[in-house]
Amino acid sequence: MRIAVINKDRCQPRKCAKECEYFCPPVRTGDETVVFVEGKPVITENLCVGCGICVRKCPFDAISIVNLPEEMEAPVHRYGQNGFALYGLPIPLEGKVTGLLGPNGIGKSTAVGILTGILRPNLGSNATWDQVLDRFSGSAMGDYLKRVADRNIRTAYKPQYVDRIPQSYRGLVRGLLEKTDERGALDGLVEVLGLSALLDREISGLSGGELQRVAIAAAASRDADFYFFDEISPYLDIHQRIIAARTLQELASTRAVMVVEHDLALLDLLADSLHLVYGSPGAYGVITRPKGVRVGINQYLKGVFPEENVRVRTEAIEFEVHAPRQEKDIPTLVSYDDFTKSYPAFQLAAEAGTIRRGEVVGILGPNGIGKTTYIKIIGGFEKPTTGTLDIKLKISYKPQYLKAESDITVEGLLRDLSHDFDSSYYQAELIRPMGIEKLYDQNLSNLSGGELQRVAIIACLSREADLYLLDEPSAHLDVEQRMLAAKVMRRFAEATERAVMVVDHDIYTIDLLSERLMVFDGIPGVKGIAHPPTDMRDGMNRFLSSIGITFRRDEDTHRPRVNKPGSRLDRTQRDLGEYYYSLEA
Ligand code: ADP
Ligand code: ADP
Ligand code: MG
Ligand code: MG
Repeated sequence: MRIAVINKDRCQPRKCAKECEYFCPPVRTGDETVVFVEGKPVITENLCVGCGICVRKCPFDAISIVNLPEEMEAPVHRYGQNGFALYGLPIPLEGKVTGLLGPNGIGKSTAVGILTGILRPNLGSNATWDQVLDRFSGSAMGDYLKRVADRNIRTAYKPQYVDRIPQSYRGLVRGLLEKTDERGALDGLVEVLGLSALLDREISGLSGGELQRVAIAAAASRDADFYFFDEISPYLDIHQRIIAARTLQELASTRAVMVVEHDLALLDLLADSLHLVYGSPGAYGVITRPKGVRVGINQYLKGVFPEENVRVRTEAIEFEVHAPRQEKDIPTLVSYDDFTKSYPAFQLAAEAGTIRRGEVVGILGPNGIGKTTYIKIIGGFEKPTTGTLDIKLKISYKPQYLKAESDITVEGLLRDLSHDFDSSYYQAELIRPMGIEKLYDQNLSNLSGGELQRVAIIACLSREADLYLLDEPSAHLDVEQRMLAAKVMRRFAEATERAVMVVDHDIYTIDLLSERLMVFDGIPGVKGIAHPPTDMRDGMNRFLSSIGITFRRDEDTHRPRVNKPGSRLDRTQRDLGEYYYSLEA
């Protein structure tokens, strides 16, 4: 069993010498294994010998040849010849939240598309519904697909890219939500998701976080048997994520809910069971059988799935149990005095603080509390209203919202920014861990959200500066990329003795990344207080007590897990004031 996949975005037949055809051994002996049709290569899989020469010769890294285990059946779906192939499907269960966890480009949205009836599965070629049902007959999946085929199923769907909603829907939030309110649950949803003030706003004027909550309410207010949420956390702060999670759990008390999610703390809290998805992004994906949520996330972090007998990574992702030790004699990079910033409707008060050399400071706080404003003032892009900042440092800044209108290539951009682009340090510490080489020839304007984010993180770290400010780097990244980005940023700070400050809403990313923590609180959209950077324990206690949750550590992987509210551990930790580091004596 062998599949050949050509990445259409990377393949640039006009800029190469048709190396895939020229070097192919079967072609040289007269087979039509690789032919060019209308200027584009087509690889015939049953003529391919799997030598991998085309994979290595392609200057754009556009070809994958994958050998699959003998026992593997035909894919459930394939996007045409030499297109991405999906194997297996997840099964939604009534009364449960089922999670779907896997890297970007591995087929999660494809699977959701099939289950919602948006995409008709083709079994790898052009199968009819009857053939599909035949393949799954006698299984719960078969019964489910039969209902999809007969259009005898009601599904509700929250799409992945909420930023596209304004393109297909114009008008007021109220109008959109009234249309979806099929089960009379809207008032309750508007209340818990905090949408009352948005009802008379235009859809086109909503922020990402507002769109996300409106989209969640719209899907949840439908009267369906099966609900699909393709990511709920993007643009939401931690408090909003937890509220969204509770909304989905409530929905699942009588119905079936399936959710794709990259925020592991949230997925852990939210799902009853999950399917892992592995394979090779852009080439093929395999959906595992369901696993318990704790076990599944642990297997994902360790990179080993025993039931499937696969290893998806050579190293486990590891968390530290203890708060980082406070070392007293770390040199100070910069200290700043109290300052404030006043906008017509918002006031930020920052308390004096110190940033030290070689450290990463994580920044936590709700949306609309002034985190971006603080970063811009520290970076010198905005002036404080009161107080003076005497910061004579070189700053490198990755903004929260990325724009890429330029036609420069990724390689061109990074070469311009970095003095030592070709050095082995730069390549080994920044480029390779984040998988940037594969993007070298792409224009910035062609990159997906996750690709652009990875390039923006590396571009930020490529500039020569004293202080690096990154606003929400985990947005659009999958779990693997978040964990790698955290490691890259932390190693960068340690190795270069520069300081890095990172705003983020993903607890696992913040945990892996930060040596100290800075917490914002106040009233979102009205006033914010920026507390000084403190050690992790104080910061986490301040932050978690404000949102009222406690974490314990998983015994196996030491990852943080949200305690059930009111459980024995939750109550004990609250009494002790230890919201985060419960395992420590
Ligand atoms: P995920 O949701 O896990 O990020 P997707 O299911 O969106 O992944 O996509 C999996 C792969 O399928 C990607 O490589 C993508 O390029 C490809 N793909 C998605 N939609 C199409 C399509 N309509 N035509 C061709 N290829 C597609
Ligand atoms: P966060 O990054 O924590 O989500 P921001 O710093 O972006 O918060 O914004 C905090 C508050 O300040 C918001 O209510 C926002 O509307 C307001 N704000 C931000 N920038 C401006 C500006 N240039 N003019 C007026 N109000 C602003
Ligand atoms: Mg997707
Ligand atoms: Mg912000």
